Amino acid sequence: MSDVDGTLCRIVDRPDQARVPARARESLETLADHLALVACITGRPSPVARKMVGAEKITYFGNHGLSFIKPGMDRPTVVIEGEEAERARNFIRDNDNPFWITAKIRVEDKGPIQALHWRGAGHRTEEVVRGIADHAQAAGLATHWGRKVLELRPPGMEGKAGAVDELLDGTGIETVVFAGDDRTDHDAAQRLRKLADEGSLKNLMIVAIDSDEGPPELIEMADLVVAEPEEWIDLIEDLAGRVSGASAGVPQPE
Ligand SMILES: [Mg+2]
Repeated sequence: MSDVDGTLCRIVDRPDQARVPARARESLETLADHLALVACITGRPSPVARKMVGAEKITYFGNHGLSFIKPGMDRPTVVIEGEEAERARNFIRDNDNPFWITAKIRVEDKGPIQALHWRGAGHRTEEVVRGIADHAQAAGLATHWGRKVLELRPPGMEGKAGAVDELLDGTGIETVVFAGDDRTDHDAAQRLRKLADEGSLKNLMIVAIDSDEGPPELIEMADLVVAEPEEWIDLIEDLAGRVSGASAGVPQPE
């Protein structure tokens, strides 16, 4: 299980310019041929994540656990629907104003989740965003802070922790490798650690991609900390080589 932004690719100023390297896609596809589950868990809508990563054979859990798209599916399955799903979008519609653009706040419409980005803007903008967050909470929305991004979400969402549960439910999977870089990934990692403590996971490896903006809690709880996405992709590539080699009957070094 891997996060996408900041984990499979570097964070860039504009989210639409983020690129996942081809070798990551190829390795994920190889892994999908040999493992029970390969999934990207991301804040982006699942079809956007699939296009961005490009691997067709893996599952994408998007919108922080709100929708997923499995191999062969054309459309995502949405976990939350109806009025709740529209609440954040309605808030943006009612509150968006030209000043946000002046303050370099960019709104990303992720359906049930609305993201406010301010990468490249100053700390005054952050104060403006804090004001928006207070207002959104008063309007009954949940707020979630990431790396230069505020997300407005429907209340009661379990985020990536819920996605992890959904992905593992009924699979009998006992070994998980999870990688991420941000606060939402820490939620998922904590849930996985809980499953391991309870015994439903036998082997768990948490990989954290270090950054100045990421949460220290994730770094602290991780089994392995890498400095950048490329190093995590090195590991994926290595793992893909091992599983494909192993299944072909090639002896593996210890
Ligand atoms: Mg990330």
